[in-house]
Amino acid sequence: MSNPKKCILLGATGSIGESSLRVIRKHPDKLTLLGASAHSQRDKLLAIAKEFQISNLHLSVPTKTNNSDLTDFPINSETKGLEELAAHPEADVVVVAVVGTAGLGPTLAALEAGKDVVLANKESLVLGGNIVTETARRTGARIIPADSEHNAVFQCLHGQNEKSLESIILTASGGAFRDLPTNRLKDVTLEQALQHPNWSMGPKVTIDSATMANKGLELIEAHWLFGLPSEKLEVVIHPPSIIHSVVRFVDGCCFAQMSPPSMTFALQNALLHPERCPGVESSLDFSKTMDLSFSPPDLNRYPCLKLAKDALSQGGSAPLAFNASNEIAVDAFRLNRIGFIQISDIIDKTLNQMSHAQPNSLDELLAVDLKVRRLANDCVTSTVR
Ligand code: NAD
Ligand code: MG
Repeated sequence: MSNPKKCILLGATGSIGESSLRVIRKHPDKLTLLGASAHSQRDKLLAIAKEFQISNLHLSVPTKTNNSDLTDFPINSETKGLEELAAHPEADVVVVAVVGTAGLGPTLAALEAGKDVVLANKESLVLGGNIVTETARRTGARIIPADSEHNAVFQCLHGQNEKSLESIILTASGGAFRDLPTNRLKDVTLEQALQHPNWSMGPKVTIDSATMANKGLELIEAHWLFGLPSEKLEVVIHPPSIIHSVVRFVDGCCFAQMSPPSMTFALQNALLHPERCPGVESSLDFSKTMDLSFSPPDLNRYPCLKLAKDALSQGGSAPLAFNASNEIAVDAFRLNRIGFIQISDIIDKTLNQMSHAQPNSLDELLAVDLKVRRLANDCVTSTVR
């Protein structure tokens, strides 16, 4: 029997982090935790350290604990510490489950060090798709998708000839306001936007599901992971979130991957690939009636999806600008500075103020990202609710 894979879990205290820990706990003979990170939740990180007896820890915002039970574990809070953790010499696999732009640096560091990356952080590919995929190619490190749709595609493509892939159809639940009359979207609250019909996720991705900016980011993510142009990437609304995506082959046959709407299925698949073992949760129950309906998304209801598609077609820094302006707009919505329907206005206005040349280096890319954030913040300030 081979040794358990040594895992570094970045973003261990979040929603994906917790699901990853459930998978690691279930398979101690196959997976072992070597290190973990969090943003500011010191006690939660230390509780993980204590449970798994690990001392490779990083906290991006140094905070104090009053819990004397947890003071034994030293915590690194250096700026480059997350990248160092991602490149830990003993690690076999790095799960990137931090949210937002902060995922790019550690994703690159892990790939540069030749580590397999289980990638939940879609922003890494949206921001730096060409640099990330080029680094993986150069070092031979693998990017194993953990986002449920992309993991579904990854599963459907396994053992197939890549040349026979015709198109990819990403499924979307439609989010919290799928059935709300569009004229009422202007009045929805943050609390309502955080109520996802099927999935339990972090706040940013839940709001992105309600606007479908999330599916837009996932189109861009799919482009980089599977090498298809935007016209071969489709989106379909599938309310039950049971089919996690569909792959169409050149002969017209379609493959789909099905499992209940919980991230443990995709994460276990990514962490144990290519092995299959009993999962953390029960599978689908086919003795019950199951609805598997599909319908095309209404782009008037979901303007963020249209903006993301346009950004993908435009290329260069447009996807990066879509992501950064969306992050600023979502933050503003969470702070009650703008209304829900103004999220897409901020993205649209920001994208229109920029040219979208391709950044040629990581520094250039981060500089453009900063510039977009400044422009988007100005748009927020000048927006009247
Ligand atoms: P979350 O908000 O629940 O957790 C985020 C984690 O990242 C936390 O551990 C937090 O401490 C850490 N973090 C936050 N800001 C950070 C920063 N600036 N630097 C370092 N660490 C930071 O988010 P989540 O829902 O678990 O999502 C994580 C990523 O996975 C996102 O990119 C999201 O789009 C993607 N994703 C999530 C789901 C899901 O079901 N939650 C599904 C697919 C993909
Ligand atoms: Mg997803």
